[in-house]
Amino acid sequence: MDIINNIENVLGRIETACKNCGRDPQEVRLLMATKTVSADRIKMALSTGQTLIAENKIQEVKEKFLALESTPHESHFIGHLQTNKVKDVLRYDISCIQSMDRMKLARKLHHRLEYKNKEIDVLVQVNTSGEESKFGVEPEEAIELVKGIALLPRIHIRGLMTIGLFSSETEKVRQCFKILKNLSHEIDAEGIEGVEMKELSMGMSGDFETAIEEGATIVRVGTAIFGKRKYPDSFYWNEKKSLR
Ligand SMILES: *Cc1c(COP(=O)(O)O)cnc(C)c1O
Repeated sequence: MDIINNIENVLGRIETACKNCGRDPQEVRLLMATKTVSADRIKMALSTGQTLIAENKIQEVKEKFLALESTPHESHFIGHLQTNKVKDVLRYDISCIQSMDRMKLARKLHHRLEYKNKEIDVLVQVNTSGEESKFGVEPEEAIELVKGIALLPRIHIRGLMTIGLFSSETEKVRQCFKILKNLSHEIDAEGIEGVEMKELSMGMSGDFETAIEEGATIVRVGTAIFGKRKYPDSFYWNEKKSLR
């Protein structure tokens, strides 16, 4: 029951945020971040008519895949992707990797896509907060990475993704979102063939209203829908620093 109420509440907050800044709520998609959430609870969330979910770890994608197969939905991937897990991403029907952040990963992925005769959408993840613990390409290196990935015809860049600074100071968080938006305009202006800057995936439970004000087209919400998780987020974001 909680989950259903929470989703309604989040949708209401999205709508209010859009109204407050003169945007059409249709422009903002809710992505439900489902790490640590059981397949049954995810199914309950999908029963509300929401369709977009994402995991951070391939292991969790794998564990829930069969249970979710018969429930219509779309799967993105939002966690750090190790090159040796590329095969798995293609195995489990992930339509977009939002965490594309390096050329080596893109090359590995492309190689595999050729082998499987598939194509995939990606967002390029940018580290806009300057925090070492966060993944993503540095803003200064993003254009070069986009140009490199654009040469791989089976990978389609649809936009950018970032995780904002963890801070209660809204203006500092907003700065991260502004960096992402400005970067997306800069990349757009380059007119790189095959590259689309349509999506800005930014904003989570604590900051999605700010992200919407700065132009988010996808907000990734976990806690506000499913409740608190057992592990700190660093566990999901930086394997080098994870709990053991
Ligand atoms: C967990 C996660 C989210 C959702 O975070 P909440 O604070 O629980 O809403 C969004 N993006 C990424 C990359 C995540 O790992």
